[in-house]
Amino acid sequence: MVRVSVRLDDLPLRDDLRGLTPYGAPQAPLPVALNVNENTHPVPEDVADDILDSVARALREVNRYPDREFTTLREGFAEYLGHGLDARQIWAANGSNEVLQHLLQAFAGPGRTAFGFAPTYSMYPLLTRATGATYVSGSRGVDYTLSAEDAAAQIERAQPDIVFLCAPNNPTGTPVGLDVIEAVYDATPGIVIVDEAYQEFAPRDSRSALTLLPDRPRLVVSRTMSKAFAFAGARVGYLAADPAVIDALRLVRLPYHLSALTQAAATAALRHAPAMLAMVDDIVGQRDRIAATLDALGYRPFESWTNFVLFAGVDDPASTWQALYDRGVLIRDVGIPHSLRVTAGTEEESTAFLDALASLGPGGATAR
Ligand SMILES: *Cc1c(COP(=O)(O)O)cnc(C)c1O
Repeated sequence: MVRVSVRLDDLPLRDDLRGLTPYGAPQAPLPVALNVNENTHPVPEDVADDILDSVARALREVNRYPDREFTTLREGFAEYLGHGLDARQIWAANGSNEVLQHLLQAFAGPGRTAFGFAPTYSMYPLLTRATGATYVSGSRGVDYTLSAEDAAAQIERAQPDIVFLCAPNNPTGTPVGLDVIEAVYDATPGIVIVDEAYQEFAPRDSRSALTLLPDRPRLVVSRTMSKAFAFAGARVGYLAADPAVIDALRLVRLPYHLSALTQAAATAALRHAPAMLAMVDDIVGQRDRIAATLDALGYRPFESWTNFVLFAGVDDPASTWQALYDRGVLIRDVGIPHSLRVTAGTEEESTAFLDALASLGPGGATAR
């Protein structure tokens, strides 16, 4: 029997999903992959062994549903974050993307709006629209910075139900002052999500938004194990907020959303936090070397408190991206004119990127 598949447009899809495109950072098996801000250093051998032991033990009881409240893992995150937090203030899910989805399901949805300062993380609009809510883009100032006055004024105008503040910001790397977060919080009766996916790469003496949590019940600080923690493949993200926010998230999560294997792996990895985070200083060093070399090559790198560098001065980003691809180096075209984004990898990977780029000539212009 010949089966003819229908096109997406022929299905009775939700009207508000028609015409949308899914998240689609290219996944290509190139020798040097610096496109999605992973920690490119593998998990240390002895740590991997210990995680494996924990997963093996969990597997023996996998006939039972896991702890729905993932209590041990929440205690682990509370301890890791410090700042006097306890497990009742912690939530986790399969990647911080799912954490953000839970927040949107609880606090956005049809008839509501979420707001982000463009350019920012490309998943905010996608996650927002998937809950039936409207996404509103604000703007940034010179070099993608954000001032407290400007941010608050934009929020007062837009009156969103949820504000996303990516701090430091992806894809630009820009730090966000705590004064901006305070001003945004005071300018809205809604939920303010500070996405600190890259906080571990910020200068040691910079203050986290976690310090603003006391007396701010609508403030949420989200984190992930995908970047600094070298755990992207395990899919674990988490947040800290008032216990009432956690109660709201219980209304929308699927029962047992964190598998016993995920809980065991993440709990074990957290026990080895210093070893898992050991490469952070090295990555920060590569980030700064990449920025300095880009500058010397005539590009314009933006200040970054993350593990990646956005740089302008690219004549034709699509063709430079392709020329690097053809040389075995995968970076990211984030759609910002004359700009590309590269993740800081190991010393060898970072050198491979810089050498390949230098070989293209000024502005990345040389024909391949
Ligand atoms: C990578 C990233 C995340 C992390 O997503 P996970 O689902 O935890 O892998 C969240 N926010 C931002 C801004 C990111 O860049």
